[in-house]
Amino acid sequence: MRRVQPERIVVVGAGLAGLRTVEELRSGGYRGDLTLVGAENRPPYDRPPLSKQVLAGVVDDTTLRTDHDSLAATIRLGETAVSLDDRVVRTDRAEHPFDALVIATGARPVALPGGGPQRFLRTLDDALSLRRLLVPGARLAVVGAGWIGAELATAAVGRGCQVTVVEAGPAPLAGPVGAEVGAITAGWYAQAGVELRLGQAVRSVEDGGLSLADGGWLPADLVVAAVGVRPEVGWLAGSGLTVADGIEVDAYLRTALPGVYAVGDCAAFWSGRFGRRMRPEHWDVALRAPAVLAANLLGGQERYDPVPYFWSEQFGRMLQYVGDHRGADRMIWRGSPGPVGGRERWAACWLAGDRLVALLAVGLPRDITQARRVIESGAAVDQALLADPDRPVRDAARG
Ligand SMILES: Cc1cc2nc3c(=O)[nH]c(=O)nc-3n(C[C@H](O)[C@H](O)[C@H](O)COP(=O)(O)OP(=O)(O)OC[C@H]3O[C@@H](n4cnc5c(N)ncnc54)[C@H](O)[C@@H]3O)c2cc1C
Repeated sequence: MRRVQPERIVVVGAGLAGLRTVEELRSGGYRGDLTLVGAENRPPYDRPPLSKQVLAGVVDDTTLRTDHDSLAATIRLGETAVSLDDRVVRTDRAEHPFDALVIATGARPVALPGGGPQRFLRTLDDALSLRRLLVPGARLAVVGAGWIGAELATAAVGRGCQVTVVEAGPAPLAGPVGAEVGAITAGWYAQAGVELRLGQAVRSVEDGGLSLADGGWLPADLVVAAVGVRPEVGWLAGSGLTVADGIEVDAYLRTALPGVYAVGDCAAFWSGRFGRRMRPEHWDVALRAPAVLAANLLGGQERYDPVPYFWSEQFGRMLQYVGDHRGADRMIWRGSPGPVGGRERWAACWLAGDRLVALLAVGLPRDITQARRVIESGAAVDQALLADPDRPVRDAARG
């Protein structure tokens, strides 16, 4: 039996997850009042192209296409939610009472200490203003050799900047994929003409550059902090929601408050598949989880338990990652990591017991589709077959 639908739904956060929620609610048959509140002055847009095509100067506008007539939603842009209390969202301009609420407020970049000017790469405005400064010869210091730092360095060197990437860890991408795998990408920086300084912590950002933890000084015309993001949840203080690393939601994307859901970068959902809470900060989550959320909000009982997927484009290479390797007990290479005969085709495969739990592929797009299915199935894999890049990943699955 279908539940009675809420009369008023408010969605806070007009990014991909917020917009997709509104779309899915309408396509799922919701006919009540729908309000989408977004802090930015722009209509919802896509973020992955910001560090790629926008910085490269190929694209200026990444607005997400949607059919506004069929959404029939009140879209309130340039309006920031400041508190949630007793079935009402208060913003800097109004109050929005609701019967159901979806929180999709995303994440914000972490700032570095120091009083000097620092920039970030999170919004379209960030990307457009940064691009204007990425002129030939400009000395750019990027702090953090993670996904965003690597993509920014790629674009900046392509625009003729002198780029130095400063990373506190032992290898690029050491946080997301571990130092052993991340180390394979270190050579890409030098090949591209980017200086990479590993094991180098930053003390503070100052006028004219970076003060380094070892007492050194790195002069720079422009400093960009690319040291990660934190869920945008400060406005929920005192709301009664459980917020640790993100708003805690169950497998149905419900918070502990009745009728309140959370989705996208701000939400930490429970994954039965991986046996832990996850907040992947992946575009694919913001794209797909809203369909599950909308179905549940309208009376369904669907679990969101994906095999997470992420991609990154850096230094002319496409990296794709599926799964979650945090529970893995070992990693094996598929193919020879690094360039062979001028081409790069390899993967890192993480296993827990005899099951594949994650795979990072460089130049092997077909591996990703197949690995996703193998991880989903939970089948045991034959390690020797998996390690052979000439055999399809699916052949490694036993049974
Ligand atoms: C430069 C860049 C490149 C990326 N590249 C990739 C990639 O290659 N592959 C990949 O998988 N992922 C990538 N990502 C990550 C991906 O874009 C995010 O996972 C995705 O955008 C998350 O969507 P979201 O809707 O949850 O959050 P967001 O996109 O952050 O949207 C949240 C929105 O809520 C608004 N908001 C926040 N607080 C409030 C408030 N209090 N009131 C009202 N509105 C509020 C924000 O202003 C924002 O517009 C990239 C991200 C960035 C920044």
